[in-house]
Amino acid sequence: MFGRRKSKRLFVLSLDGVPFSFLQAGIAAGRFPNIAELGTPVRIDSVLPPISSVAWASFSTGMNPAGHGIFGFVDRDPRTMELKLPSARDLLAPTVWLRLNEAGKRAIVMNVPVTYPPQDIDGIMISGFLCTDLSRGVRPAGLLPRLRRLGYRIDPDPNLGMTDRARYLEEIFETLASRRRAVFELMREEWDFFMVHVMMTDRINHFFWADGEEAAGGYHSEFWEFYSEVDRFVGDVAGRVTDDTDLLLLSDHGFCRLRWEVDLNAYLVEGGFLRFKKSGDGLSRIDPASHAYSLIPGRIYVNLRGREGIGSVDDADYSRVREDLAAFLAELVDAAGNRVISRVYRREEVYHGSAFDRAPDLIALPFDGYDLKAKFAPAGVFAEGQGRSGMHTHPDAFALLRGKELLTGGSILDIPPTVFSLLGVPVPEAFDGESIRAEGAKR
Ligand SMILES: [Zn+2]
Repeated sequence: MFGRRKSKRLFVLSLDGVPFSFLQAGIAAGRFPNIAELGTPVRIDSVLPPISSVAWASFSTGMNPAGHGIFGFVDRDPRTMELKLPSARDLLAPTVWLRLNEAGKRAIVMNVPVTYPPQDIDGIMISGFLCTDLSRGVRPAGLLPRLRRLGYRIDPDPNLGMTDRARYLEEIFETLASRRRAVFELMREEWDFFMVHVMMTDRINHFFWADGEEAAGGYHSEFWEFYSEVDRFVGDVAGRVTDDTDLLLLSDHGFCRLRWEVDLNAYLVEGGFLRFKKSGDGLSRIDPASHAYSLIPGRIYVNLRGREGIGSVDDADYSRVREDLAAFLAELVDAAGNRVISRVYRREEVYHGSAFDRAPDLIALPFDGYDLKAKFAPAGVFAEGQGRSGMHTHPDAFALLRGKELLTGGSILDIPPTVFSLLGVPVPEAFDGESIRAEGAKR
């Protein structure tokens, strides 16, 4: 009889919103010595729209948004026209962790967005983004006192980004420190798949991107000090993940400097596609005679009769209205005459699956610098960023596999199949992507 082969293990460290280009330039400048030691990152695409909750729901299920049902940070119920914040309860597809459990793999999942409420898995789950109360975000619940002793924090207080930047930075550092302590303790548990998510990179990028870019004044040194801490965290994790275990780093979207916030609903009003009533809030403010409205970022819905609660566009007119909208969006320019929208996707180009009917009809992707908003009150199209100087980008996320090569040209949807392949688990048919693992180790 042959000896039992040691089963494969994988550690995933996800850094929310860390761009490939930023990482590559930082490695070249010697800012990320520990990350550079692991290998060379490859660029991957995000999802549409490139929002953390959509990207991580896609990672968590291996499926595109119409497969798992989450299309944005906010979503609408087309019948009641009410807005809501989708949670893990709204996922229509089984999670990667449950599938790994089925294959006999024990999983520890820390802080991944859209994992609240937490699932009972074989392993440990600590909820991420959208969970505001740690006591309700931990499975098994018996782990809670240990996390409390470690001073575990899910997220910095998001309101501080607007009100107290100095304190916000402190909380960003404190939250990373608490994540370190908890990871190093939980790594000693039994696991085959371990994933820890760092949301603070997205937070600091939103509020301090300009500080990082501009050497003079502001919080320039603090921004780079934080990224040195992140690099040190990666190095310390790598030192604890033994060589027989794969180590994967990734992000979910890129980031760039925010120049203008662009309210697409105000633009739709200008074009005569949207009209607001004098009262009401959210979608209830929309005049039923409107032909379209937008939700952040860049999601456009035709006000289709029979689908939208206040629908007034007939089926027969849908295609014409949608093409008029696409052309109108492409024409949007700023005061200097620069185009704002780089591409408009029809939903059938990017989505497929059981939630397709709830997908936006068009998805507009902006050029760098134009953060697409969707307000439900009459206002100007262009406004300066409210305390924020960074915004998400679609084509500039990254992946890096320690000591091994990854193929370029993939997207975050290709990471779950890569994970299963690395763990030696058959890739589920339902997954939309393909493994980007290159054959053979580099070193
Ligand atoms: Zn993100």
